[in-house]
Order: sequence, then structure tokens, then C-alpha cells
Amino acid sequence: VTDVFSRRKRSAIMSAVRSSQTGPERAVGAALRELGVQFRTNANDLEGCPDIVLDEPRVAVFVHGCFWHGHAGCARASLPKSRRSFWTAKVTANRMRDRAVTRRLRRQGYRVATLWSCQLKNRTWLRRRLLAAARYLS
Ligand SMILES: [Zn+2]
Repeated sequence: VTDVFSRRKRSAIMSAVRSSQTGPERAVGAALRELGVQFRTNANDLEGCPDIVLDEPRVAVFVHGCFWHGHAGCARASLPKSRRSFWTAKVTANRMRDRAVTRRLRRQGYRVATLWSCQLKNRTWLRRRLLAAARYLS
């Protein structure tokens, strides 16, 4: 009985984790569906595992959390006052990795679109941004 309960509890926790991770992806996916653009999610086969991938034309979309990826000039990206050097080093490492991933994907023929989580609420902007990334706009 305990085993069943814990298994159930585990799966409840796991689905909570999953749904919290799909928030930004859902916003981008909904915008792409509205535009009639084919896409896939969590592309494990690609460098950096982009959140969204368009295969034709080749576009990799990342939705970055403003804090962890250091969104410049964004209120959500301000670092805590304490352990400043620790946080700075962490965010800097993430940014360096993001740049390396972008370079490698571009070499493989992908256009890389980086979206920030703070930008997703503006649906008009998001649609325009995705269209531009997919070269549907000149
Ligand atoms: Zn931001």
C-alpha cells in the first residue's frame, strides 16, 4: 500500500514539475499554432536542447529565464545583494554556454531565436518575433 501511495505521489510531483516547465513553451507553441507553423519541442537531438525547433526553415527557439540567463536591463534579472560574486559567476557561466550553443547551432544551419520569459505576455510581440525568426517576414 505504501508503495502504491508513494508511486502515486511521485507521479503527481513529476507532472507538477513537467507542467511548470511547459509554461513558456506553451505560450510559444500557442503562438506558432496560431501562425500555422509546424514545430517540435524539447529537441534532445540538438545542441543545447532548444525549447522549440522548426525544421523547415531551420529555427531553434530558446525561452530563457531572465534571472538565470542574465537578461540585460531586465528587472527580473537583478541579482541578490548577498553572495553577489557567486550569482554573478553562475549567470556568467550560463551566458557563456548560451553563446557557445548559439554558435554551434548556427554552424549547423539554424537561425537561433532567444526569447526571454518576461516577453511572453505580449502576444502580438511574440507572434511578430516568431514570424521574423522563421523568415516569413522579409
Ligand atoms: Zn527579462
